[in-house]
Amino acid sequence: MTFDVTVLSMFPEAFPGPLGVSLIDRAREDGLWQLDVVDLKPFSSDARGFLDDTPAGGGPGQVMRADVIGAAVDSLPDDDRPRVYLSARGRRLDQATVRRLAAGPGLVALCGRFEGVDQRVIEARGFEEWSIGDYVLAGGEVAAQVLIEACVRTRPHVLGQEASLAEESYENGLLEYPQYTRPREWDGHLLPDVLLTGDHKKIAGWRQQMSERTTRERRPDLWRQHCQATGRPVEEQSDECD
Ligand code: SAM
Repeated sequence: MTFDVTVLSMFPEAFPGPLGVSLIDRAREDGLWQLDVVDLKPFSSDARGFLDDTPAGGGPGQVMRADVIGAAVDSLPDDDRPRVYLSARGRRLDQATVRRLAAGPGLVALCGRFEGVDQRVIEARGFEEWSIGDYVLAGGEVAAQVLIEACVRTRPHVLGQEASLAEESYENGLLEYPQYTRPREWDGHLLPDVLLTGDHKKIAGWRQQMSERTTRERRPDLWRQHCQATGRPVEEQSDECD
């Protein structure tokens, strides 16, 4: 089954952007997912073609009009794809949400501009609001690309080695262990000895320790959740990793 993506944007020329390279592009050529980009501009009912108006109640900037966005959404086939408004005000996107969205038939992604989109159409047309991080972008196009790429790469047959998904950061609630490759010595820096032992059990144990240490140091929020889920004390130090 294909993963069917429709993007609504004032700037359709921003697509496919990075979605048009490498694995994600090949997956599209192989029919594993489809991308349809709808230009919002023709849906303006304004003689000057404007999509925006001043904020109700006053204040700086402009707001994308509900009638324009509503008309664009209503022009799409009436199907059960989740609708996502990429929004700095949204809940923060995480891998569990990516997995949920990727398991469905596809998605409709709405890219905002200006100060955002009239909230009435977000609610009336059933958009979920997701943010890609705690910062503000100029528009939703890059955020939509982030969401789409994150979803598509988890779809079956997109990655060459699907096993690599299972050990990645966030999949088991932890950050991934550090990665190394040849040469054995670079610029005076050696590979960690354990990786040269060929002892898969020992290597797996070392990677687990590194994963736990990195998560504890960099993401105490994730570490706390992991400890709660696994019944470990939060203060516990994982074994020495060096
Ligand atoms: N006034 C909004 C606020 O303070 O929350 C920011 C509007 S931003 C300049 C314009 C558009 O960029 C938004 O409508 C949204 O589509 C997109 N955007 C900005 N930051 C984002 C983020 N962190 N995640 C997802 N989309 C974002």
